[in-house]
Amino acid sequence: MKTAILGAGISGLSLARALVEGGLDAADVHLFESASEVGGLCRSKTVDGFTYDVAGGHILYGKDKDTIRWMKDCAGGEDAFVTRDRNTRIRFEDRWVRYPFENGLGDLPKQANFDCLKGYVEAWHARQLPGAPTAPPEFGKWVQWRFGDGIAKHFMDPYNAKIWKRDLDFLTSDWVAGRVPDAPVEDVLKASIGIETEGYTHQAIFWYPLEGGFQAISDGIGSAVLDRVRLSTPVREVARTADGWRVNGEDFDRVVSTLALTDLPDLLVECPDEVRHAMRTLEYNGLVSYLVALDRPEHPNLSWIYLPHEVQGPANRVTYMSNYSPRMAPEGKTSFLCEVTTRGAAGPPDGELERQVVEGMAHAGLLSKDEVLFTDHVAVRHAYVVFDAQYHARRDAIFSWMESQDLIPLGRFGRFEYDNSDLCVKKARELATRMLDEAQRGARA
Ligand SMILES: Cc1cc2nc3c(=O)[nH]c(=O)nc-3n(C[C@H](O)[C@H](O)[C@H](O)COP(=O)(O)OP(=O)(O)OC[C@H]3O[C@@H](n4cnc5c(N)ncnc54)[C@H](O)[C@@H]3O)c2cc1C
Repeated sequence: MKTAILGAGISGLSLARALVEGGLDAADVHLFESASEVGGLCRSKTVDGFTYDVAGGHILYGKDKDTIRWMKDCAGGEDAFVTRDRNTRIRFEDRWVRYPFENGLGDLPKQANFDCLKGYVEAWHARQLPGAPTAPPEFGKWVQWRFGDGIAKHFMDPYNAKIWKRDLDFLTSDWVAGRVPDAPVEDVLKASIGIETEGYTHQAIFWYPLEGGFQAISDGIGSAVLDRVRLSTPVREVARTADGWRVNGEDFDRVVSTLALTDLPDLLVECPDEVRHAMRTLEYNGLVSYLVALDRPEHPNLSWIYLPHEVQGPANRVTYMSNYSPRMAPEGKTSFLCEVTTRGAAGPPDGELERQVVEGMAHAGLLSKDEVLFTDHVAVRHAYVVFDAQYHARRDAIFSWMESQDLIPLGRFGRFEYDNSDLCVKKARELATRMLDEAQRGARA
C-alpha cells in the first residue's frame, strides 16, 4: 500500500510513525513537505540563544493520558520535559485580573467590577425566567446572553474583536461549548467581593520540552520517519487515477492530506465546482508571532496573559516564553512572545506592526523599551478556524466528496477543526489503526 502523506506537521509525522510502528513497510510511506524542516505549526525558532514557538506559545496538555505519554516518550521521555503550573492573567489597565475574567471581578477597578457583576446577575436572572430565550446562535449575542453587558464591554467584546477581526455576530456560538469557561453565579458573586474561587481548573499544569521549544515534540515523533520525508517538496498537483491518486506525477494507492482545505482547490486536478467553492470560502485567521528578547534577568511567575484593550497594542496574547523552560533564553535574559492575528492568511508583517506591539506592551506596563534587545517574527498563514454560519454546510460538502474519492483529510486545517496538537496526534494514531486494519483485511481477502 504505497501511501502519500501531504504535509509533515505533527499530524503527518504521527500518522507516518504510527503506520510504520504498526507494521507498514516504511518504504511505502512518503511524506511531502513544502518547508525545509518538519513540524508545521509546532515548529520553534532560535535567534541568538532565544527560542520561541512560531505559532504562538504552545504547551503540552490534554485529557487523553495515552496520547500525552506517547508524545512525551517520542520526545525523550519524562526527563526531557519540565512541568509548569498554569498561571494566566488578564491585563486590565495597570492591574492583573485572574482568569477566567468572571472569577477575577474583585481585581477590577470598582466601577468596572460593579458593571460586570450587575450585567452578570441580570443575564443570569433573565435565563431563569419562564420562557427565557435559549442560547443565541450568534457569538456576539451569546456573549451578552451568557455574561451580560458589563463583561461584554470590559473584556469579551474587545478581546474577541482583537482575535477574530470580524463582527462578533459573524461567528457562531456553538464552538464555545467547553472552550469558554462557565462559572456558577455564586462564584462570580464571591469573586466580585474578593472571596477567592477556584475558576477554571482545566490545564492547571502543563508540560514543555526542556530543550528546543515545542518543536522538540514534533522532532521526536518525526525522528523515526525522517528519511521518509521529502523536505522542500511542495505538493503542486493531486489527480485521481483509476485505482488511486497521483501526486506531483507519482502514483500512490492512498493519499492522506493534512494541507489546509482552503489550499486544495489549487492542487486538485478534478473537483466539482461546488466543492471547490466550499473549500475556498472556509473562513480562517492567520497569525504573526513576535519574539521580544529582553535584557531582564527574570519575569514574574506567569505563563501567558491576555491583552483585551486596543491601547495595549495589536497583540491579543503574550506568552512569558522564557518561563516555559530555563533553556528558552540565555542566562540572565528573558523573552515575551506576542501574538497578533490577521484576518485571513497572514502575509509578511510590516515594521509598523512590530513597533505597535512593543509600544502597546510598554503602554500596558509590561516592558520598558530600553530593556528590548531585539525582536524577531514569523508569520503563519493558517492559525485559527473561524466558525461562521456556513461552516458546517461547507465541511459536510467537502468531506462527503473527499470520502467518495477516498481522499483522507487529517489535521487542524486538513479537517478545519479547532484541534490542539494532542488531538491531532490522537486522530492520526486512530487513523493509522484503521488503515492498518484495512490493509490486513485486504491482504487476507
Ligand atoms: C496560536 C496557536 C496556539 C496554539 N497552542 C497550542 C498549544 O498550546 N498546545 C497544543 O498542543 N497545540 C496548540 N496549537 C495547535 C497546534 O499548533 C496544531 O494543532 C498542530 O500544530 C497542527 O498540526 P498539523 O500537522 O495538523 O498541521 P500543520 O502544522 O499546519 O502541518 C501542515 C504541514 O503541511 C505543510 N504544507 C502546507 N502546504 C503544503 C504543500 N502545498 N505541500 C507540502 N506541504 C505543505 C506545512 O508546511 C506543514 O508542515 C496552537 C495553534 C495556534 C495557531
